[in-house]
Amino acid sequence: MSADQPTVLVIEDEPAQREVLAYNLEAEGFAVSRAETGDEGLLLVDEQAPDIIVLDWMLPGVSGIEVCRRLKMRPETRRIPIIMLSARSEEVDRVRGLETGADDYVIKPYSVVELMARVRTQLRRIRPSTVGETLEYDDIILDAEAHKVHRGGELLKLGPTEFRLLATFMEKPGRVWSREQLLDRVWGRDIYVDTRTVDVHIGRLRKALTRHGGDDPLRTVRGAGYALG
Ligand code: CA
Repeated sequence: MSADQPTVLVIEDEPAQREVLAYNLEAEGFAVSRAETGDEGLLLVDEQAPDIIVLDWMLPGVSGIEVCRRLKMRPETRRIPIIMLSARSEEVDRVRGLETGADDYVIKPYSVVELMARVRTQLRRIRPSTVGETLEYDDIILDAEAHKVHRGGELLKLGPTEFRLLATFMEKPGRVWSREQLLDRVWGRDIYVDTRTVDVHIGRLRKALTRHGGDDPLRTVRGAGYALG
């Protein structure tokens, strides 16, 4: 999988449903992980930090609602959007599902087209550059679809890594990213890269951003990492 490919974790015990979901999500460009139980799902969330979770309500062992509750209680996982799936007969529990912190709720049997639209909505909210949105920060414009960056009207030349770094920063201006977090997001978890590599690419990104003038918008936060603005 490529590092900036959005990831989704499907937690669903029924094999046929799980595979249909995974197939469609992969067709949408997601890297998909699968879990059959709530316990397995919780484990994979910690291991893989997925962008989005599609979670079935009725699971053997730890129920979907309990998985949701636990993930929304923990600071490190609470921001991962969760789309809950539930059978029609459980519709009365809809309010309870949303109270538990699920970000969206889809009733079975669902239309795959609709579910994919809901997933894209959540993704747009948390990682706008991965769905081809245009991001703006100050005089910097990043067009994720055309893969181009302009600053003050000038086209900037960025390598693929610098482009992904900038997209990450522009999705959350002001947020401080540690080198490890940038490695996970930009290079991907499966690859071993030294954290000093991050500094090298930050240097290149700074150079590219200021080539035609303008202040360096990237901030080095001592002992913490980097931030945009
Ligand atoms: Ca189920």
